[in-house]
Amino acid sequence: MNILEKTRPLFVFVQVLVVAVVITGAASRAAGQAGTGETVIQRATEQFEDSPLKITSLGRDLYVFSGDGGNVTAIADDGSTLLIDSGIASRSSELNDAVFKATMRPVTRLINTHWHFDHTGGNVYFGSGGVTIIAQQNVTKQLSSVQDVPFIGLRDGHYPEQALPAATYSSTMALRQGSQRLTLANYGAAHTDGDTIIYIAPANVVVVGDIFSNAFYPIIDLTSGGSIDGMILSVDRILAQTDEQTRIVPGHGPLATRADLQAYRDMLVQVRHRIQQLIAAGKTMAEVVAAAPTKDFDANWGRGYVTPDVFTKLVFSSLTKSTASR
Ligand SMILES: [Zn+2]
Repeated sequence: MNILEKTRPLFVFVQVLVVAVVITGAASRAAGQAGTGETVIQRATEQFEDSPLKITSLGRDLYVFSGDGGNVTAIADDGSTLLIDSGIASRSSELNDAVFKATMRPVTRLINTHWHFDHTGGNVYFGSGGVTIIAQQNVTKQLSSVQDVPFIGLRDGHYPEQALPAATYSSTMALRQGSQRLTLANYGAAHTDGDTIIYIAPANVVVVGDIFSNAFYPIIDLTSGGSIDGMILSVDRILAQTDEQTRIVPGHGPLATRADLQAYRDMLVQVRHRIQQLIAAGKTMAEVVAAAPTKDFDANWGRGYVTPDVFTKLVFSSLTKSTASR
């Protein structure tokens, strides 16, 4: 199902335009965690603008940069650096400098895990410099027009030509970067309908984008085709492809293990089950939120920019949407 709003009037040259659409009823209840009336995206953007850029080495020629949006992974070979995700637009040159300082190789290829602004913000900068951008084919569609995701207050898109993917794939693609083999995979819509998971071998690293953030409740971008069932399915596929030694680069937050991903999967499945039961009992969204179906998970997962109420509403909306379309 494609419900992208492709005919919206364009906001020329606006990379990230945050619209203060308040999540119905959530702002007041979540006010202890968020500034009054702030959207998920506003809270996240403030954090991305201000956080110092941190580098974590994953061993020979592999690095993770965090702070300027989603996590950015860099893999160097003899002559070049391949980047996975490009942070937010305002910190692109800072990111490029930090990557060059670490790898001493220029960035020549960039993979986007999905279209969101905190993972593609550097596309204009890198694309303008001749870097080849690679992504799942739906990312091109999303970046080519303005996208509006009012639930979380996200409005973005209509990137210039040079910031769009030059190479795309549908379900899987293989690449090499020096001694590392990269397998790009899309298991159907999960966080968005253009997610890419990147397995890196022999390093035994997997970059999963926003299908998993460590350790926060996830955003499920329902407007872009995302769903709770798709999230669980993708996580199951990743669990099947990894082992105890695999290092997992989440979309946000510190490096994780397969055990962390398993705990996240169990949380998703239980929350989905509880909300499904409340829906089956005829509860409205407000009643489901009031029933606090995430309560015992909130201490571990509820401290990010997605509050328990917002996550509950996302799952509720996802489940009622898929029921309605069946
Ligand atoms: Zn995202």
